[in-house]
Amino acid sequence: EWERTPQADFKNLLTTVKKCFVIASGKGGVGKSTVSSNLAVAMAAQGYKVGLLDADIHGPSMGMMFGIKEGPDATPDGKIIPVEKFGLKLMSIAFLIDEDRPVVWRGPMLNKALTQFLGDVLWGDLDFLFIDLPPGTGDTQISLIQNAKVDGAVIVSTPQDVAFLDARKAIGLFNTVKVPIVGVVENMSSFICPGCRQETQIFGHGGVKAAAERMGLPFLGEIPIDLAIRQGGDEGTPLVAGHPDSPQTEVFMAMAARL
Ligand code: ADP
Repeated sequence: EWERTPQADFKNLLTTVKKCFVIASGKGGVGKSTVSSNLAVAMAAQGYKVGLLDADIHGPSMGMMFGIKEGPDATPDGKIIPVEKFGLKLMSIAFLIDEDRPVVWRGPMLNKALTQFLGDVLWGDLDFLFIDLPPGTGDTQISLIQNAKVDGAVIVSTPQDVAFLDARKAIGLFNTVKVPIVGVVENMSSFICPGCRQETQIFGHGGVKAAAERMGLPFLGEIPIDLAIRQGGDEGTPLVAGHPDSPQTEVFMAMAARL
């Protein structure tokens, strides 16, 4: 099925970007955007020039997660200037969409719009660009991967078997298009009660690490369910930016150092 896009169509639209990583998941709601935003801030905190593109057409969340209220500026010739926040360059597909209307683009039209969007952003020189992909494994994902010269993929999954089964489809997709999986992340691993510090494994725990090891994929780490992570996401300051001393920030910093 993937052979539908011939190799001759390949365009590298990100010539000023040294390394481009996509963040993917098999299904929505597993914390892909949360991981993308905190990983990108962690990478920037380590001194790199970092960009983050929210390409999750069905649930773009960067505006909320980074507290961005205004759209980006454009140059007279129609190039888009990324918004800068927390040391990152940020761009979201949501900036092109009317928030009160559902996304009506479908199939090839959507893919063309996304690809054009990819080429129209003035990232400047970047060490790393992270692309927060839409969940799942459709044509949109393939088209983005093929036009961005992606160097690697980070897969986010919750510990539940069903979530990792979904993630396996995403892993299969990257194998097919020959993009290496540079890391697997288990999100919502456990819950630490802020009152009594007791750890509860709401969705089970450790299954993603075991599966990654079985599949020979690098495991990047586990992130617990943490109130500060959710609040940071809702309030527009990713945990890593707002709570540099949190143990979860340390986990994201260690993940970034491994990429
Ligand atoms: P996805 O991008 O996979 O759809 P999100 O990153 O938008 O998922 O996360 C879904 C919701 O879960 C958000 O409200 C987010 O703040 C919350 N969330 C994600 N990961 C965690 C976590 N480790 N601890 C607490 N809340 C989390």
